[in-house]
Parts: sequence; structure tokens; C-alpha cells
Amino acid sequence: MANDQFGFETLALHAGAAPDSATGARQVPIYQNTSYVFNSADHAAALFNLQELGFIYSRLTNPTVSVLEERMAALEGGVGGTATASGHAAQMLALLPLMGPGDHIVASSKLYGGSINQMGHTYKKFDWQVDFVDPSDPENFRCALTPRTKAIFVECLANPGGVVVDLEKVAAIAHEAEIPLIVDNTLASPYLCRPKEFGADIVVHSTTKFLAGQGQALGGVIVDCDSFDFHKPEKFPSLATPAPEYHGLTFTESFGNLAYTFYGHAIGLRDIGPAQQPMNAFLTILGIETLPLRMERHVENALKVAEFLEGHPAVDTVNYAGLPSSPYHGLAQKYLPKGAGSVFTVALKGGYDVGKKVVESVELFSHLANIGDAKSLLLHPASTTHNQLTDDQKAAAGAGPEVLRLSIGLETVSDLIRDLDRALAIASK
Ligand SMILES: *Cc1c(COP(=O)(O)O)cnc(C)c1O
Repeated sequence: MANDQFGFETLALHAGAAPDSATGARQVPIYQNTSYVFNSADHAAALFNLQELGFIYSRLTNPTVSVLEERMAALEGGVGGTATASGHAAQMLALLPLMGPGDHIVASSKLYGGSINQMGHTYKKFDWQVDFVDPSDPENFRCALTPRTKAIFVECLANPGGVVVDLEKVAAIAHEAEIPLIVDNTLASPYLCRPKEFGADIVVHSTTKFLAGQGQALGGVIVDCDSFDFHKPEKFPSLATPAPEYHGLTFTESFGNLAYTFYGHAIGLRDIGPAQQPMNAFLTILGIETLPLRMERHVENALKVAEFLEGHPAVDTVNYAGLPSSPYHGLAQKYLPKGAGSVFTVALKGGYDVGKKVVESVELFSHLANIGDAKSLLLHPASTTHNQLTDDQKAAAGAGPEVLRLSIGLETVSDLIRDLDRALAIASK
């Protein structure tokens, strides 16, 4: 049966997997395996020339990782997936089929700090140019377009400031310029937001966060939403002109709507190499099985903690799109109707000194650099994840010195509130 006949919960448990044909094993087997025996010399040659599909070497494809790729493609409503070693590897590989030296993207200035570092500094080494614009006015994306712009890149719900981007408006600007909109959907997960429904063409994830869900496995994934036609030889020569590395094969002609995904494996993973480990794919698949249940509790707990903090005398502001006080509340109701995620920031009246004491006084919350764990986490972004940014970039990302980032987990919510209340009391003394 086609994936579109099933609900999200069913796909989260079944998409891309069937009982193992060799053993009947019900859970996805971990193919902890680098290479696969060829049937014959001709079979081997056909696989290497992409004339036949099959497993060659786990840097390109692996049966356990393939289940994760198919499952994520199903959950995002896409046609194909490429899993990677991390979310950052996914961002890199998402752009590789589109970019050449001197090409350009327009990205939101409110991305996760690590993404701003990656794009603002390391992309320069490939001569990939990036302009960051304030996403609160979608027209800013249009103003930054150049003839060499190959994509627009945003987070639907941004880490950490609770910023929601008006995806439909940004998608329209991208499509007028005949370029794809790439959405990092890490903070929302496909359960809370399906960017494809609002015009996204490519979705990337750090699966490290809510998808794996228990702080146990690094990973990333790219999904092609099957909405963008990459057959534009002038604009996307890697995909739409003959590839010398495959005897002149043209990806868009040979693979149709799978061209982008095939490029991700046959060139991206093959030549750059950040393949996801089978064990991590297995752990992430396990996580995804319970994603709908976990996300429901994450957002329920997050809203209660955010409401508590908003009423607390030591707190200046809470930046959570789930609260009516947030300037992004209206956009959140449109794009994230089931809840605005469980990561948000609080600005403390006492500034950094109080924030530091809160971080040191909590007992249930863990002070660490991750989000999307079943356990509650907190962090001071200005001195950690956003440390390498300039003061202006920190402020733009909602990560000033007075700001703490919280990732609300699945604990009993009254325990979380008591922990924060106690820590705020100690810190404000
Ligand atoms: C964590 C994160 C990334 C990077 O992912 P890694 O798996 O840590 O490489 C990218 N984007 C967002 C929004 C993230 O939260």
C-alpha cells in the first residue's frame, strides 16, 4: 500500500521496513557490515556504473541505513532520503548537488549557531558564498538573491530563540527565482511540522535530537520532497549535465525524480564520505517508532514550564512561540498547530551572573550541549553553542548573555517546575 494511505503513527513504525526476508526478524536488523558479495563480475560492473541498484559498500548504502532513509522520506512526504553521519554533514551534502565554486545561498540569520559557523566560515573554503538575512521579513530573502543563488536555507522553528519562519512566503520567493527552499526541520520534527506542505523542496534534519530522542546517536538526513524540478542544466549542472565520474550519465535523465537523492549517495556520500553508522541508524529507527508520543509530551511539558517561567519574578522574558506573548505565536499556530516544540529561551532579569547560578543549581536539568533528549537539558548559549559568533550575531540569534536555552524533556512536569523554581531562588539571592 502507498505511504499516503497511512497515518503518521503507522508510518513512524512501519515505513521502509518489513520483517527480515532471511530470518523473519521483526525489528530492523543491524547490518554491521561494510561490503556485499557480488553475484558475478557483470553484476559488480553494473552496480558500479549505476545501471543496476544494489549494495556495494556501506559508505554509499547500507540496508539498515536505507530503512531510516525510507522512513524519513515517508514521514516528510518526500521521494527519497540520504542519511549522514550528523546534521552538519546533512547540510553540507544537501547543498553539494546544487553548488559549485562561486555559487551562493541566502540563509536565515536565526539558524542554530553551529550552522552559522559552518556556513559563514567553512563554506568559504569551497568558495560557497552565504548571505544571512533576518527571516522576520520574508522580503529580505528576495533582496539578497543574486544570479548565482542556488537555494534558500531556513529553520522552520529556529534553535534556540523560538523564531518561526513564514515558510509559504519564503517558498514563493525561492520558486520565483527557480531555486529550491531547504528547511532544517530539526526542532519541529515531521510530527509538528511538515515543511513540504508549505512549499519546502528539501528537508534536512539533525536526527541526533528529537528523532533519535534519547541523546544516544548522532546522525542527519536529507529528504527530497519531490516538488522541485532539478532539470535545469544552466543552473544545476551537477544534476542536469553529463557527469564525467559516471561515463557521461546525467542524473536528472537517468533517475528522474530520484536524481537529487542518487547524487547524494553516488557522489555526495561516495566522495565526501560522511555515511551514517548502521548502529546509529538502528537506534534512530527505534527512536522514531515513538516520536509521535514523545513529541506530544514534549510540547505539553514545554508549554507548562514556559507558562510557569513567564510568571516568575526573576524572569524577564520567555521566548516560546507556544505562548500568546510571543511575536511568533500567530505563525506557530499556522505552521506548528500541534505545539511549538520543546526548546525555548528565557532571559533572566539578573543577566549572566544569575543565569550561571541557575545552571549550577538545577538538579534534574542537565547542563549540556544538546536538545531533544527525553531528559530535560539547559545551557547558556552565549558561552557555548553560540560562543564563536559576534555579539551582533548572538543578539540576532536570540542568544545574548542573559539568555538560557531549555530543552524540556519527558519528566513529571511538576518536578521540572520545582527544580527551576528552586534554582531561580538560589540564584536570585
Ligand atoms: C544540532 C543541530 C544541527 C547540527 O546537527 P548535528 O547532528 O549536531 O551535526 C543542525 N541544525 C539544528 C537546528 C540543530 O539543532
